[in-house]
Amino acid sequence: MPEGLNKDLRKMISDHADLKALTVKDIITASDGTRKILFSLEDASVIETVVIPSARGRTTVCVSSQVGCAMNCQFCFTGRMGLRKHLSTAEIVEQAVFARKLFSDEFGSITNVVFMGMGEPLHNVDNVIKASSIMVDEQGLQFSPRKVTVSTSGLVPEIKRFLNESNCDLAVRNWIMPINRRYNLSTLLGTLREELRLRPKSIVLFEYVMLAGVNDSTDDAKRLMELVHGIPCKINLISFNPHSGSQFKPTPDESIIEFRNMLIQSGLTVMVRLSRGDDQMAACGQLGAPGDYQLPL
Ligand code: SF4
Repeated sequence: MPEGLNKDLRKMISDHADLKALTVKDIITASDGTRKILFSLEDASVIETVVIPSARGRTTVCVSSQVGCAMNCQFCFTGRMGLRKHLSTAEIVEQAVFARKLFSDEFGSITNVVFMGMGEPLHNVDNVIKASSIMVDEQGLQFSPRKVTVSTSGLVPEIKRFLNESNCDLAVRNWIMPINRRYNLSTLLGTLREELRLRPKSIVLFEYVMLAGVNDSTDDAKRLMELVHGIPCKINLISFNPHSGSQFKPTPDESIIEFRNMLIQSGLTVMVRLSRGDDQMAACGQLGAPGDYQLPL
């Protein structure tokens, strides 16, 4: 507790606030400059936060929302841990606060926040909505709502709630996800079509993890164009990050570019995200508590 506060104020703060959510346990640097921060929680669980500098002056912090994850997506290392617990609002916000404190001198300001670390953010929807609102609040971290993106594997009721209660961006990563068994793609896409019609300024980002021989053919590109037709969106093609035990292989870069070109020709806005930080398991789908994984060969 800071010195210099009067006794009543100190008591009020200690009764109502938690000022020690995270402790830095380790910082690992990948060869491309991406940093993975390992944080201990009060109960000794470990979470991971990734700070990704880019050449264009943009630095993104990728925050975790849970210890582990219940969604069990086949391409994801974190999913194999199972869900251990939800993070509190403070534990989520503090990851961005630490990223600023630790790396602003080196990388310049942290410009973007993405909820794409460990966990399915909308499975912890109360705390994620609160955390994202603190991140964009004038009295909070003052990020622009367009620079804070919450990514979901496709929890349909929570997507509706998020779109109603948050002004931050939404990204959907819903291909080869077990959650499709509960909310199939047409339900998910129908919901997005309907909800976004009510919010003409909003768009959704679809994250499409490219898996060799699984979803990267010409027919897959055509199917994708049909599926997202009429939804205001951008598509992010993501290179798969292999990890031990995964049955999937990454699509070669040249095939990703061909796939992208087909989508662009149909009028879609498409970005390609090649892997960052994968030599230190700091890349998308590779996060997991230390000791739970092996570094890829
Ligand atoms: Fe969970 Fe996201 Fe991994 Fe799926 S991809 S298991 S939602 S952390």
